[in-house]
Amino acid sequence: MNYTSRLTQAVIDLDALVKNYQYIDNLASNSNTIAVLKGDAYGHDASKVAHALSSKVNLFAVAFIDEAIALRSNGINNTVLILEGPFKASDFKLALENNFSLMLHSDYQIKWLKSITPEFSGDIWLKVDTGMNRLGFQVEQIDNVMSQLSAQQRSNLVLCSHFSTADQIDCTQPDKQLAELKALVSKYNCKYSMANSAGILNWPASHGDHNRLGLALYGVSPSSDSPLSQPLIPVMTLQANIIALHTVKVGESVGYGDTWQAQRETQLATVAIGYADGYPRNAKSGTPVFIKGALAPLVGRVSMDMITIDTTDLKHITIGDTVELWGKNLSIDIIAQNSDTISYELLTRVSKRVPKVVAG
Ligand SMILES: *Cc1c(COP(=O)(O)O)cnc(C)c1O
Repeated sequence: MNYTSRLTQAVIDLDALVKNYQYIDNLASNSNTIAVLKGDAYGHDASKVAHALSSKVNLFAVAFIDEAIALRSNGINNTVLILEGPFKASDFKLALENNFSLMLHSDYQIKWLKSITPEFSGDIWLKVDTGMNRLGFQVEQIDNVMSQLSAQQRSNLVLCSHFSTADQIDCTQPDKQLAELKALVSKYNCKYSMANSAGILNWPASHGDHNRLGLALYGVSPSSDSPLSQPLIPVMTLQANIIALHTVKVGESVGYGDTWQAQRETQLATVAIGYADGYPRNAKSGTPVFIKGALAPLVGRVSMDMITIDTTDLKHITIGDTVELWGKNLSIDIIAQNSDTISYELLTRVSKRVPKVVAG
């Protein structure tokens, strides 16, 4: 969509992004900090994010090769790590041609690797399952997997694992997972990567040769526990405008299903954003939005294209006023709590019809 009459947009602050990257990279000064750009850079527009970071970041990571090819089409030349590795044998050829590093996590991928001639000479990462039980070789399988790699393939190998509970600082599971990975790292004397955002912030002992920075790069904290000297800066501000104002009497309702009734004479503002834009349909009545320096509650159900806000307690509300759904003035975590989800999901579900506009 090139013509935009509706003002609903996600404003992307690339200066904030770069500051977050530099701040977190400094927290782990002996590690290389990979910027994770999967899911269209957590909904922030991977091309814009990659261009803002390309001169500062060695390595980007995405989930699967299609996302990496899209970065190349957009003129990004950095090495890209493919976190779920090849989905097809032909992905190895593409990886070699395009300088993608491949994470291998299963035997079928090792079979493909061995069937390739000449030998695959790109960088290989091996995923080890230390307790997440989602992807990766079991610790006992690693000997066997190693024996199937060539000396050249082993020489640059990175062993990698993923925390299941690094957002909970009183949990013992991360130490256990880290110990399992580190035992393999000493045995094979290779590089390693363990930490995601929560690992980088909460478990300094997990900082490896490479850390994989996702959520915190976008200015959202992976847990309320993270002791940050400098708060992260939210990169996305989701905003929309008031397109109608109504006053309803006591007992009148608003929206589908009549789920909310006015307890007093109420000014209702209708805002041009709905679940087709990625605002969560199950956001409860009372979920805050930010208008003209103050918070006001969502009332009634979220519709496909609209939400309604009780603006009775705010002054000078007019048609056209900008409403922040989340961002610099209103933490996305609050919206996530009010809609039974997590910030990751909200960010990645901002839909295509919402333009991503660079701030400034
Ligand atoms: C998404 C992902 C990350 C980044 O996680 P955050 O919690 O967003 O920092 C790191 N590693 C792997 C394997 C991932 O899939």
